[in-house]
Amino acid sequence: MTEAPVRVRFAPSPTGHMHLGSARTALYNYLLARKTGGQFILRIEDTDQKRYVPGAEQELIDGLRWLGIDFDEGPDKGGPLGPYRQTDRFEIYQAHAKQLVDTGKAFACFCTPERLERVRNEQQSRKISTHYDGTCRNLAPDEAARRISSGEKHVIRFRMPSEGSTTAQDLLRGEITVENKLLDDSVLIKSDGWPVYHLAAMVDDHLMKITHVFRGSEWLGTFPLHVNIIRAFGWEEPIWMHLSVFLKPSGKGKMSKRESAEAIKDGYSIFVKDLQELGFTPEGVLNWAALMGWGAGEVEDVLTLDQMIEKFDINRLNPSPAAINFSKLDYFNGEHIRRMAIDDLAARIKPYLTKAGLPVDDDMLLKIIPLIRERLVTLDDCLPFAAWFFRDNVEVNPVELIAKKLTAAESAEIVRKSYALLKDLPEFTHAVIETPMRMLVDELGLSPNQVFGVLRVAITGQMVSPPLFESMEIIGKQKVLERLRNAIELLEKLA
Ligand code: GLU
Repeated sequence: MTEAPVRVRFAPSPTGHMHLGSARTALYNYLLARKTGGQFILRIEDTDQKRYVPGAEQELIDGLRWLGIDFDEGPDKGGPLGPYRQTDRFEIYQAHAKQLVDTGKAFACFCTPERLERVRNEQQSRKISTHYDGTCRNLAPDEAARRISSGEKHVIRFRMPSEGSTTAQDLLRGEITVENKLLDDSVLIKSDGWPVYHLAAMVDDHLMKITHVFRGSEWLGTFPLHVNIIRAFGWEEPIWMHLSVFLKPSGKGKMSKRESAEAIKDGYSIFVKDLQELGFTPEGVLNWAALMGWGAGEVEDVLTLDQMIEKFDINRLNPSPAAINFSKLDYFNGEHIRRMAIDDLAARIKPYLTKAGLPVDDDMLLKIIPLIRERLVTLDDCLPFAAWFFRDNVEVNPVELIAKKLTAAESAEIVRKSYALLKDLPEFTHAVIETPMRMLVDELGLSPNQVFGVLRVAITGQMVSPPLFESMEIIGKQKVLERLRNAIELLEKLA
């Protein structure tokens, strides 16, 4: 395990919604930085104008904030090695591309898209792998310079060594060796002057003194290109870790857009913003994401961010694909909810109640939390359990008031007797309510389920609720009696 302070970066492209995979990459970076007392940098990789989605950068920053992953350097925050948004670094990439051209490690290519298309088609029809055919690779430098200064459209390509092989080292996967003749002269700078990822990320990682790179395994294919670029500059390489991919819950194939749309119908998602809206907690999401690809001991380990920092070990990261398991998300979320302080949980639950149009009384909410906490899987589960507390009147389905195996008239009698008993109680606490109510059940010769079932529906409007006597105490005698009177009326109409 590395103990020296690291410099790591999360380098998302603002091209859409923040995905679970991004959250996990950001988390691993954060954990390693905090564990070693190093720095965690946010870099926005936005040079691909075609894929740019307005608002995506803000969503990323909001997502990180919600997750509680704070960065030390980044856009708007600044830092000694910025700017941290790639579109603010145009000249830096130009200068570095020029350096590669000047040293013969890259070259200007004037081939038109039409010609490249023809070459590709021809290669395809010969059933050989498509690659740049090297037309401009050996242009004399002064001819290339002349054509550039005359304004001819061109790109800059990397001059891949045509012989030998490239060996790259991934901490999780070991050595990866490829024959250089299988590697392409990839484009580094497009004809509009903007760099592609391959150049921009390598330059930035070097200039920002990044020591460890966590990134998605979709970059494994171009990994040999990346190490060649770094070596062409003569720079030191970071430690690379290509993380596992997420598979569909079935374990068959990558999580697709369609699969994500299906998940939403069941109250799940792989997008951070959706998870937040669906009532998941950052603690639950992080715990869930962290353990997909990290053997942190028992897979069922419930870990706080601080505990994750303590336990994190890059040598235990697992590169095997991980199937998404939403029931584990439920599990971790519920566990974290149960570990929260009452006032913290109340503050997190309140917005869901307010959003549902309920006038929330804070003191009352604090009393409700201990009654419902055990049953919550997501924060918005508070609605079925607790919304009725804040309503002036509950809507009662009269038929539900009729106790099992009894008539409406007999059920009305239960409510009348309960009313008489409760009305005269000197105090209205659950302890004071419970004993005489249980005595009443015996006196009536009925089961607790029959009696309390009728009262539950009368008072809460629902067949399932938090513990009845505690709930009665919270809404108070007056409301309880009001609701019982209403139930008696409804039952009398049915009788
Ligand atoms: N911008 C790249 C992406 O979003 C970053 C990959 C990396 O971390 O180097 O996939």
